[in-house]
Amino acid sequence: MRIGVLGAGQLGRMLALSGYPLAKEFVFYDLSGSPSAGLGEVIIDRNHEYLKDFLSRVDRVTYEFEHLPVEVAESIAREKPVYPSPRALQVCQNREAEKTLFGSLGIPTPEWRIADSAGTLKKAAEELGCPVVAKSNTEGYDGKGQAVLRSPDEAAAAWESIGHERLIVEKFVDFQREVSIIAARGIDGELAFYPMAENVHSEGILRYSIAPAPRLNPDIREDAERYIRTLLNELDYVGVLALELFETADGLVANEMAPRVHNSGHWTMEGAFTSQFENHIRAVSGLPLGDTSPRGVSCMVNIIGEHGSIADILKLPYTHLHLYNKQERPGRKLGHVNVLADSYEELVWRARNCATFLPGTPELDCSLTRS
Ligand code: AMP
Repeated sequence: MRIGVLGAGQLGRMLALSGYPLAKEFVFYDLSGSPSAGLGEVIIDRNHEYLKDFLSRVDRVTYEFEHLPVEVAESIAREKPVYPSPRALQVCQNREAEKTLFGSLGIPTPEWRIADSAGTLKKAAEELGCPVVAKSNTEGYDGKGQAVLRSPDEAAAAWESIGHERLIVEKFVDFQREVSIIAARGIDGELAFYPMAENVHSEGILRYSIAPAPRLNPDIREDAERYIRTLLNELDYVGVLALELFETADGLVANEMAPRVHNSGHWTMEGAFTSQFENHIRAVSGLPLGDTSPRGVSCMVNIIGEHGSIADILKLPYTHLHLYNKQERPGRKLGHVNVLADSYEELVWRARNCATFLPGTPELDCSLTRS
């Protein structure tokens, strides 16, 4: 089976790496002009001329990034099976549609408003009560296109700095930590849930994921599974879905979802019996899903901006290095290290040791280090 992947970045690369042992072949379709997957067949199509050619080479289609025109996904779906469906893509591209769906399914969100001018942004900030977070309604990722308003008087400057015509304005959530849940759904509706991860961000970019999330209340886990199950079934979803959540004193509040494999699930490559990448390939191929149980405890450390001392990391017996073969650039995701351990105490020590070889990596500050 030849799987067509829309997008050709590191997520596509890791999907292919997990699909080869299942005898899958991969064709990537890249609209950016700078693919980094580095394996399989890559069709670069900046002017949308070679879509038919791409489709003639594949049996089914999936994607590895969600900022792809929905019309492209829809036109593909008329010719080949596309998993997950273009509807999932459409919802995830638009924060307003996403939050509306969450609300209609009983999934709690921060209180929100829409702003289409500096004036309506100010009004939203007044109504919600500051601080609020203003985000471009479309095209945002890794904290880009966002501003925190500490007072409604900052509305004009925030509107100017974001520079989008439609914003979602959210009440700032006073969270204890950020967590995520990743799950897979097969073509026959089979479901598999990974243990949740605790995620540490810095400047909007994920730096560490710890899984299973330490000291997680079983009720919180049940809530998260219920929310993602509801979404998977509502969207008749096939593949891996990630849901990012805030854990607060009053329970979970949903932030956003991603219709694809997710950075907060990279720990599953060695830290779970079946990785998120393999389970995505299994799901879209119509195969049974694999075991999502953890092997010990894991901490994923992202390599951002510069590679650091790769040789030193390779000398550590408890690390697994994944490099994406990308050039160094500030803020760019170049790879990640999966650190494994038998206890959280050992995990913190190991992750900190690993981070000393990665310049620019913030100190690990998570629920395990705070108590
Ligand atoms: P997003 O692009 O929506 O994932 O936002 C990036 C990061 O900004 C999140 O991981 C949070 O750390 C922070 N953030 C986003 N929305 C809120 C909110 N409503 N309240 C508090 N922090 C937020």
